[in-house]
Amino acid sequence: MAGRFAPTPTSDLHVGNLRTALAAWLAARADGREFRLRVEDLDRDRIAAAAGTAERQLADLAALGLTHDGPVVWQSDRTPAYEAALAALGGRVYECFCSRQEIALAAQAPHAADGLRPYPGTCRDLTEAERARRRRHRSPALRVRANGAEVTLDDRLAGRVTGVVDDFVVRRGDGLFAYNFAVVVDDAFQGVDQVVRGDDLLSSAVRQAWLAQQLGLPIPEYAHVPLAVAPGGGRLAKRDGAIGLARLAADGWTIPRIVAWLGRSLGLEAADEATAADLVDQFNWSKIPRGEWVVAMGSGTVATERGPSDSQRARHRGPAEEHTYPANNTSTTHTE
Ligand SMILES: [Zn+2]
Repeated sequence: MAGRFAPTPTSDLHVGNLRTALAAWLAARADGREFRLRVEDLDRDRIAAAAGTAERQLADLAALGLTHDGPVVWQSDRTPAYEAALAALGGRVYECFCSRQEIALAAQAPHAADGLRPYPGTCRDLTEAERARRRRHRSPALRVRANGAEVTLDDRLAGRVTGVVDDFVVRRGDGLFAYNFAVVVDDAFQGVDQVVRGDDLLSSAVRQAWLAQQLGLPIPEYAHVPLAVAPGGGRLAKRDGAIGLARLAADGWTIPRIVAWLGRSLGLEAADEATAADLVDQFNWSKIPRGEWVVAMGSGTVATERGPSDSQRARHRGPAEEHTYPANNTSTTHTE
């Protein structure tokens, strides 16, 4: 049994990522699971443009006390395993010649947080002659034939989730294996039976669970943690707190203060300072706020509050907490 954290090394981990990592680690350790790390570095061009990021991410996780078991797995080393899994799918994959724009035009409007556009099946039943003709102009992606399968999952945080699996990409036209495919192969390889991650990936879970079934692999337990957002609900930007450990440390935050802050944001009780290990015993799914985590950073304060969808809970818990920032002024206000 193992939980995991699997960052993509295109940018440093911000406070929202660090909070999700802490949640994943606490959930795993609270049940006596091992904890795996995986660097999702398949997209080589984007990774190369951010050299050194993976090493900083791993160092940040270690600094927070998020210990891991077994070697760190790098997806760029895993191509033979992906090739083998692709072969196992056999005739269930087909070539797709559509451009992104063609799919956007043919599909319905995106209906999920991650902008998921179900593939409309344009290339599903091309004749061999038609495929041969199109191969001359475009290197095809490979899609898996899902036949409109419907999957229901019981997510620890999001509740019951039902979705129709579209014919999603397993290998891109440029030859890179797709995120949804590699994740399933790697989670099974690493013995992961619990996936805790940001809820921007919730709509991917039905695809991944379905693919695991197709490959004869176990389906992990899922828990999708509501994201950290800026005040007003938008994507977290640098000025709002999309900053990482290095910047927090430069501003006077110690690691124990950061861990305590992140722990409180997960509904746990922590005084001014805590270690991750201190928080394991009180971890409980029921404590994790079901709304977005609103992070505001500017003009000398870091304030966090519950998102609007969690307003009911917030009423029972009292107002948002606020931390004086930078932290070399030690006065903090805890209102819960
Ligand atoms: Zn197509």
